Amino acid sequence: MQSNARIVIVGGGIMGASLLYHLALEGCTDTLLIEKNELTSGSTWHAAGQCPSITGSYNLAKIHAYGNQLYPKLEALTGQYVSWHPCGGLRLATNEQELAWMKHIHGYSKSIGFEMEIVGLDTIKALNPFLTTDGVIAAARTTGDGHGDPAGLCNALAKAARNLGATVARHNRVLDIKLRGSGEWEVITEQGTVIAEMVVNAAGCYAREVAAMVGGDAPITNMQHHYVVTHPIPAFIDRSEEIPVMRDPYTSGYFRQEQKSGLIGIYESTGLREAWAPEGFPDWEASNELFPDDLDRIAPWLERAMERMPIFGEVGIRRVINGAIPHTPDGAPLLGPAANLRNFWMCCGTSFGIAQGGGCGKYLAQWMLHGDAEINMAEFDPRRFGPFADKAYVRDKVFLDYRLTFTTRLPGDEEMAGRPKKTSPLYEKLRAHGAVHTETFGWERPKWFSPDGRVELCGYRRNNVFDVVRAEVSAVAERVGVLDLTGFAKYDISGADAEGYLNRICANHMPRKVGGIALAHTLSPQGRILGEMTVTRLAPDRFYALSAAAAELRDLDLLSQGVRPGENVRIDNVTERRGVLVVSGPRSRELLSSLTDADLGNDAFRWLTAREIHVAGIPLRALRVSYVGELGWELHPEVDALPALYDAVWEAGRDFGLANYGLYAVNSMRMEKGYKAWSSELTNELNMLEADMGRFIDFDKADFIGKAPTLAQAPRPLKIVYTEVDAADTDARGGEPVLVGERCIGVTTSGAYGHRVRKSLAFACVPPEFAAPGTTVEVLLQGERRSATVLATPAYDPDNLRMRV
Ligand SMILES: Cc1cc2nc3c(=O)[nH]c(=O)nc-3n(C[C@H](O)[C@H](O)[C@H](O)COP(=O)(O)OP(=O)(O)OC[C@H]3O[C@@H](n4cnc5c(N)ncnc54)[C@H](O)[C@@H]3O)c2cc1C
Repeated sequence: MQSNARIVIVGGGIMGASLLYHLALEGCTDTLLIEKNELTSGSTWHAAGQCPSITGSYNLAKIHAYGNQLYPKLEALTGQYVSWHPCGGLRLATNEQELAWMKHIHGYSKSIGFEMEIVGLDTIKALNPFLTTDGVIAAARTTGDGHGDPAGLCNALAKAARNLGATVARHNRVLDIKLRGSGEWEVITEQGTVIAEMVVNAAGCYAREVAAMVGGDAPITNMQHHYVVTHPIPAFIDRSEEIPVMRDPYTSGYFRQEQKSGLIGIYESTGLREAWAPEGFPDWEASNELFPDDLDRIAPWLERAMERMPIFGEVGIRRVINGAIPHTPDGAPLLGPAANLRNFWMCCGTSFGIAQGGGCGKYLAQWMLHGDAEINMAEFDPRRFGPFADKAYVRDKVFLDYRLTFTTRLPGDEEMAGRPKKTSPLYEKLRAHGAVHTETFGWERPKWFSPDGRVELCGYRRNNVFDVVRAEVSAVAERVGVLDLTGFAKYDISGADAEGYLNRICANHMPRKVGGIALAHTLSPQGRILGEMTVTRLAPDRFYALSAAAAELRDLDLLSQGVRPGENVRIDNVTERRGVLVVSGPRSRELLSSLTDADLGNDAFRWLTAREIHVAGIPLRALRVSYVGELGWELHPEVDALPALYDAVWEAGRDFGLANYGLYAVNSMRMEKGYKAWSSELTNELNMLEADMGRFIDFDKADFIGKAPTLAQAPRPLKIVYTEVDAADTDARGGEPVLVGERCIGVTTSGAYGHRVRKSLAFACVPPEFAAPGTTVEVLLQGERRSATVLATPAYDPDNLRMRV
């Protein structure tokens, strides 16, 4: 075996093979894929091979769409039989919520460009005359997707890669992986050692064990999943057409034709078991491993499938497959750099790897070779999980995800499996005030406060929480509100070279004066947006940086890997050491002045400055910033002091009409201010100018990462615009198509109802010719065309007068 390769991929399932091919397509063939057995001998070999277009995530849907374009071409490209069946799909809706979800996904189909329509019972019956449609109200019909032979697809991808010059080594287990002093990786295999610049973990159900070789982790639980194949069905034998792949919430599974037989797969919700040793180590020798059938476990759902398709019940079951599928806590793959390691990548954790393998390989290859991908990868970044995702958490979340595979999850709908994991010291106090929490990076963060014990009736339309959020917004706009944002990622950055280093890795200039605050973005070498931080200068050589809770580990990597050898810079992740209490509203100054000797007046404590002061006797960092567009301060004490601080603020707040508020209210208010959000508008798909963030770039700086490409990139194909939507009772949330006539010209990136301005607002990504203020386009909301007008300025207080007072 060769002793060097630029990139070594561990694992020859569909993920590894697709990555190998796409690296080669991007021009990198100094690659070696190492498989311990035969290619496909892990989960890929067992799969039923369905490749649906429909999935609940906008970015994941792009991954699925790419696979469905690629797979039909593979046979002609390689000569490898892949048995591609473009029979389309039908996903049944049995209630209004499922239909609402389909309408939202129908929007994705237009903005991404896959074929989908919502059809009624007549069309359903015409496409599948054998179906009992009891309880069915509609279906999402997709064309251009279908199913293929998973082993054929995997082998075709590997063959295509080899044809371009990539190398595959089979029957060769990777035994260990070590980091050399040079920064290269030493991959120790049964057949010798390979030195590599980059290593990729594509080890499927073994990804956790391979990650452990380098001291890392892969938050994966391997689930057992069954499908059965019936004996041939007479009704199929005489028919030339194939029924679409059926997906059915009532059955909690899928069914389709397999040649002239029926194939039924079940996502049972009781009796779940992991596939392999839940406490750790699967058998390295296992390959093509199947588990004993447990038909009793899936029987209730199998019976439902027979109810739906009585012709299945007329013949017996011929074959049962019970194989292992790797699952992550949020159901999305792990694609991107492993935390805290240079040049170690993850390409694993997919539970729909046949559907996703093609796209995962393509976009990961782009990221590895060019520093970013053409689609937003934030929700796949393995660093969205951290040490909080321990085995028990992963297992609880995965069990939930598995059993809800065919259950429609509506916006706002969150289950408590695995939670709470990380809580601020205010968690119970706020719950006593009615807080309903949402989870970000393991943190419980207040979403809204139930005034009367009501439970949110989740859905795509405005609901019973709308008025509650309006009241929270009013409190902030008219009086004063308090919010626990302890989950913010926080870093202390110090050292003689800290300023120069930060100016190099951020597009904006660091504050020159002590107490100054700057909004700063980190860019990829191509100038695309990687992160957003608020940086405060605490001293000539001390800075305090804040970033999104979900970005804690990726920004930590970005910061620490940006330090040059010999540079005097120290980075401390103080996320869990400091709490954050936000006090916002026109009466916030009066309230806080009653608790501090510090002068909070406009001359002494200006907007966008920070000082170390005492509030209620507690030393803290006070930042006069606001994401909600009102006068206000963020208070950052040592985390243990947070309860005493909150109590003092709450007590003093009685005289000022203080109210708690949550992230729903924050989203409404940030939309009114036209503030873009990291991972919605500010993503690796765009550069700063496309995102209309040019005012946060200091082009006068000698250099910063991404400067030259940001300056060079013209003409710019896309631009983020801010719009007012003529909505009825549904607001944009992102992923909705932007239409001009029948043409889809763009997509919304986020949106919300602005309670202060009483307008529905949305950001959208469109070509520049539609970006001029006053331009009117249409947005598809729940199947209805709604006009949207580009605004020139923020809908609320465009001159920031309320924050400057
Ligand atoms: C019954 C069943 C039905 C399914 N149906 C579908 C479906 O219809 N559609 C769909 O999209 N998905 C389906 N799946 C899921 C799909 O099979 C997986 O998501 C996908 O195969 C995962 O691919 P992978 O490349 O990540 O993992 P794998 O295919 O498991 O590949 C990982 C490879 O890494 C190798 N490896 C591990 N450790 C080492 C080491 N130390 N050294 C060298 N090699 C190593 C393994 O031998 C293995 O070949 C199904 C799964 C099952 C079990």
